[in-house]
Amino acid sequence: MKKSLLFLIVVMLVVSFGFAKVYRVGTSAGFPPFEYVEKGEYVGFDMDLMREMAKEMDFEIEIIDMSFDSLIAGLVSGNLDIIAAGMTITDQRAKVVDFSDPYWTADQSISVKEDSDLTITVLFGDHNIGVQTGTTGDLWVEEHLEKTGILTGRYKRYDTFVLAMTDLVNGNLDAVVLDSPVADRFAKVRPVKTIGVIKSDEKYGLAVRKGNSKLLETINEGLKRLEENGTIDELIAKYF
Ligand code: GLN
Repeated sequence: MKKSLLFLIVVMLVVSFGFAKVYRVGTSAGFPPFEYVEKGEYVGFDMDLMREMAKEMDFEIEIIDMSFDSLIAGLVSGNLDIIAAGMTITDQRAKVVDFSDPYWTADQSISVKEDSDLTITVLFGDHNIGVQTGTTGDLWVEEHLEKTGILTGRYKRYDTFVLAMTDLVNGNLDAVVLDSPVADRFAKVRPVKTIGVIKSDEKYGLAVRKGNSKLLETINEGLKRLEENGTIDELIAKYF
């Protein structure tokens, strides 16, 4: 009896110390430069941030790609342990998940076709506006433009911002409202331009299940160390 108990304890110790914990990191890999797929690999600022953090804090990660608006449900239901998806910390989301310390600041950009002479008045009246479903851009347009009746044209939601931008380039939309770092980066490679910025001053955070304070502490400690040892600066230089 005693022997078997001892054996069990040894096994448990080996299991808990011998193998690093594997966390399932949910992302939506169509959000360059934060997360995207290149040569079959998940790359981008958030993806490298998570890999570097895993090394620093001694855990392993498995990256799981899904639509942005399924991420919170995935975390709450236990299919994910962490969300790393350029996700803005909002009061609404913080009711259902716990956010890390902020690691990025963004605003909302208004993008139009490169050859367009539309101005920020594109947000008013009979114009067609596109957003990515469930994002802060979506919420902003809905709350400030659609519900108020300021926008009377078509308001269209897309699974990814790239689909919205493609409709913009094809002339099916007049403007897209999207996180500024992502819009700026996109404007470098496709014929779109930013004509205005909505100063939303939003902060990106990593998210964990509510009450998972141990993992949250690990993540915040990881962010702090990567900030202090210059890794975050290296990643900024690499992706921006
Ligand atoms: N930062 C925005 C949000 O949290 C968009 C994020 C994204 O599309 N990946 O809603």
